[in-house]
Amino acid sequence: MALLQFISAGLPEVRVPTTVHSDHLIIADKGAKEDIKRAVSDHKEVYDFLSSAAKKYGIGYWRPESGIIHVVIFENYAFPGGLIIGTDSHTPNAGGMGMLGIGVGGSDAVDAMADMPWELVCPKVTGVKLTGKLVGSNWNSSKDIICKLAGILSVSGGKGKIIEFFGPGVQSMGATAMATVCNMSAEIGSTSCIFPYTQAMARYLSATKRAEIARTADRFKDTLLAADEGSENSYDEIIEINLDTLEPRVNGPFTPDLSHPLSRLKHALSESDWPVELSSSMVGSCTNSSYEDLEKVRHLVAQAKTAGIAKVKIPFLVSPGSEQIHATAEADGILQELREAGATLLSSSCGPCVGQWDRADVRKGEKNSVISSYNRNFAGRHDSNPATHSFVTSPELATAFAFAGRLDFNPITDSLPVPRNGVSLSDTAGTAAGSTFRFRPPVSTELPRAFDPGENRYQAPVTDASNLSVAIDPQSDRLQRLTPFEPWARGNASRMEVLLRVKGKCTTDHISPAGPWYNYRGHLENISNNMLIAAQNAFIPESDPRSRGHTLNPVTGKVDLIPAVAKDLRSKGVKWCIIGDSNYGEGSSREHAALEPRFLGGVAIIARSFARIHETNLKKQGMLPLTFNDWSDYDKIKLGDRIELVGVEHGEIRPGKRIIMKVRPKEGSVWKAMLNQSFHWKQIEWLRAGSALNHIKNTTLK
Ligand code: SF4
Repeated sequence: MALLQFISAGLPEVRVPTTVHSDHLIIADKGAKEDIKRAVSDHKEVYDFLSSAAKKYGIGYWRPESGIIHVVIFENYAFPGGLIIGTDSHTPNAGGMGMLGIGVGGSDAVDAMADMPWELVCPKVTGVKLTGKLVGSNWNSSKDIICKLAGILSVSGGKGKIIEFFGPGVQSMGATAMATVCNMSAEIGSTSCIFPYTQAMARYLSATKRAEIARTADRFKDTLLAADEGSENSYDEIIEINLDTLEPRVNGPFTPDLSHPLSRLKHALSESDWPVELSSSMVGSCTNSSYEDLEKVRHLVAQAKTAGIAKVKIPFLVSPGSEQIHATAEADGILQELREAGATLLSSSCGPCVGQWDRADVRKGEKNSVISSYNRNFAGRHDSNPATHSFVTSPELATAFAFAGRLDFNPITDSLPVPRNGVSLSDTAGTAAGSTFRFRPPVSTELPRAFDPGENRYQAPVTDASNLSVAIDPQSDRLQRLTPFEPWARGNASRMEVLLRVKGKCTTDHISPAGPWYNYRGHLENISNNMLIAAQNAFIPESDPRSRGHTLNPVTGKVDLIPAVAKDLRSKGVKWCIIGDSNYGEGSSREHAALEPRFLGGVAIIARSFARIHETNLKKQGMLPLTFNDWSDYDKIKLGDRIELVGVEHGEIRPGKRIIMKVRPKEGSVWKAMLNQSFHWKQIEWLRAGSALNHIKNTTLK
């Protein structure tokens, strides 16, 4: 979608270095080889489009199986002191290399690709002081730092903030371990997350053939690449985490901020109705798929094998983060050991992390639990099954759970039975003594002896593309050139129907679900058929199965799917708005969640609060994201209400000025409420032009 928007902006080529990565569409099923074959065949049209558009516009293209975007960026582009924006919410991963990585929507990326200034409200800074040392001897890992932080700050606690790590504990972490923390900072809604430059980054740069950058960085390690003296005193807040006493964590289900210290998980399970038996365990994703992570997994697998436990108990899916990690782990024998233990080796791509999982072992609607080393665990995230209870943890705990098959297993205190023909080990000393086996904490090496780059799947930018064209079949149901949105028209917001009042958590996965819908990410018309189909509608009782994804058509009086009702209203020229709850649009930076309501005739989203990226995405598409000044007004909006906004017309709306909402109930008298808006002058121009893209065209290309 970012490329389609760039194309419609009309520029001849990108003006800053840009890359495109094919990692999200590959379905996990039989294993890497067959899954890639299937993806290349199923998505040929999309890959041809990406390849041809990349050639045409001077963009580098990483073909399928090159790796997951953030891992490839870490291996090739991330450098201390840099700034990178990416159309994926886990772009902060680059903070593990001392680079500020910020997730944005596609139209923000188009600004940058066009070399226009890219902007955001100056974030606050939360300092996280790490004391002690991360040595892993008590099973803790860098994942536990961010899982703990998520528990402290919640999914919205990082909003508008950069998380900056400091303190002596930082020196005990490898570069990819730091990247894990920065990566999952997206789960607390922060703008970005960063570690100061350390020698671990220098070692990683050298190992990935960028020693020259390490030498340059070393020259600035005490100046440009270190926090300013006394900066600790100017952090907006400081949180301290002692790595010596940090306990391993398991977070979930359904939200990444429900954080359980491992020692408390059994208790949490006993007080809930979460399934204790695990149906699958997964290691991978951009968060935890480094060489170091896979080494830890191997170490545990080897321990179990020595004890006589040859196989994992439940399906165990492992994805190396990139072709380079895959090739290196293969050369070092890690992957073979995992295969022998019963693991399914998936391709170096997102797979089940983003719903690309051809899951046959569990029926849709069947209650089950899965555990993974991923970052995100919203309902339906992995397998489109809202009854899947997903827990996130470190790769080592995910491995231990794969052997136990149960969530109430604590590898620190509990033992596993050894099969009769196994060599039994004692709980403590690791010598043959009884009929049970207890894991020791895994050890790992920060970096391999040497990285093997594997197969080169990179397509470099083309210098002369004047004769090249972009492959888009006009008949395609997966790709569609964009038609510019209409500029703002006076009266747009003077009589809006309320399409629905969203109840509770509404992530971009609820607004524009992933899974099979990924097929239509390049076709706005088709993907709009998924708008809000996973959202809970407060106007329909929860006991009614239609309360999710359905609403009442205010014109016909019939209940239908939300996108169908929106389309019908658009066809009748009826304007509409959505009422949202708090942190509306959290999660992925998916801009389809903003494009779809705009495309289907929406004018405003009025919520208790918004997630940062989604709020900007809505503005970029020419919509009005507004927040209730008094949160209790949310509850007062009833089915059949009509809304008029006063103060949004040309000459009326200006930065910081509140909007008046007049609500006309079906019965009863009109009432008013105050709404807040965060538009600045340039964003107001986007609103007038109909979208930021229209504004670019109207200004830059004149
Ligand atoms: Fe891919 Fe999951 Fe990482 Fe997103 S979070 S880039 S879906 S691996």
